[in-house]
Amino acid sequence: VSDNLLTLADGNQMPQQGFGVYKITDHQEFVNSIKAAWQAGYRLFDTAQMYENEQFLGEALTKLQAPRSEIFITTKVSETNQGYENTIKSVKESLTKLQTDYVDLLLIHWPINTEFFETWRAFEDLKKAGLTRSIGVSNYGMVHLQYLATQAHELPVVNQIEVSPYMSQKPLLKFQQEHNIVTQAWSPLGRGKIFDDPTLVKIAQGKNRSVAQVVLRWHLQNGVAIIPKSVHAARINENAAIYDFTLTNEEMTIMDSVNKNHRISKEPELVY
Ligand code: NAD
Repeated sequence: VSDNLLTLADGNQMPQQGFGVYKITDHQEFVNSIKAAWQAGYRLFDTAQMYENEQFLGEALTKLQAPRSEIFITTKVSETNQGYENTIKSVKESLTKLQTDYVDLLLIHWPINTEFFETWRAFEDLKKAGLTRSIGVSNYGMVHLQYLATQAHELPVVNQIEVSPYMSQKPLLKFQQEHNIVTQAWSPLGRGKIFDDPTLVKIAQGKNRSVAQVVLRWHLQNGVAIIPKSVHAARINENAAIYDFTLTNEEMTIMDSVNKNHRISKEPELVY
């Protein structure tokens, strides 16, 4: 996990596989899962202001006593904290909770119509000031990215979006590849809803792997970054053990065929 890095458009490197901490709100469970993830080789940890667990992440990472440069931290600015001043203020609060001087990646959690450009301007300034290494967005569609590009000095280097076999987002993935924006998949396992899919079960059985493993491998081979979540050490390890096999082109094509364009999230609103 830790050796597999992607180079972003700004020159920084980001682990292709990370650990998502959405909905881990129990303190002990949090500490245990971060420890298990660290031991399994995860170095990227994905939180958000909205998850209300930045403080836990800060504590858990401090406990590891690892050099800061070995850890990659992502956080996201909430819909309610957007706008220039709010963004700057809220990111400083996030850094205090995370017990660090900078995050590696800062994302706008969700596109909203108000103060669309002001939030991004704050991101550019936060990067210049060294409070974040890279800047990106989340849940942006093609329209949002194109609109942002009309006024941005720097373009987002990552867009974190819902991608799973049931929501494969091929047109957006292609667009982002062409524009040097790394796609990072949230709910890469479709939040557990894809495990019984007969086509995926068959592929997994044929490889002597779990459905979770073949699905995560499918993402990697599509060039997509992943942040699967689990609080169980066995599953955390299972999700990390995907570097000793490959899917054939035929298996990849079969896995592509289960797409239903089925979203877990609401559709991001359009900017006008
Ligand atoms: P996920 O696709 O990672 O699935 C998690 C579910 O699958 C959990 O219920 C877990 O118990 C189960 N699971 C994980 N590994 C398994 C395995 N090997 N075998 C069986 N079950 C397994 O979904 P998620 O947690 O929604 O998404 C991952 C991360 O993405 C979040 O923690 C968060 O960091 C991020 N996220 C971001 C946004 C956004 O708007 N940017 C939205 C949702 C999630």
